[in-house]
Amino acid sequence: MIHPKINNIIADLIGEPLQKIKARGNYSLNNELLQSPLTETDSVIRFFCHACGLCVELNQEALDELVNIYKLNKPADLTGLFLEASSCEFCSQAYVNLKFSSL
Ligand SMILES: [Zn+2]
Repeated sequence: MIHPKINNIIADLIGEPLQKIKARGNYSLNNELLQSPLTETDSVIRFFCHACGLCVELNQEALDELVNIYKLNKPADLTGLFLEASSCEFCSQAYVNLKFSSL
């Protein structure tokens, strides 16, 4: 299922028009990037997709959308956490196995 609002929010963040990213599969976590401080002032967390390697910072609005749509339990403190998924709607039809994780 495609959620246009999230698509648009993330497309804005990555600065590209919405298009499908090739899912080449099995990207490993980029620990260095995931541990580095967020670079945008309104970013609250990073998202990483194992299928296409997409790694973007999400603002509160995008995070809340994902939390609501995918019924995630959002931890009170996001410090040291990121969101990961085995696929995302940029490379697939939906976020699969979307969850909060820490390194
Ligand atoms: Zn993806």
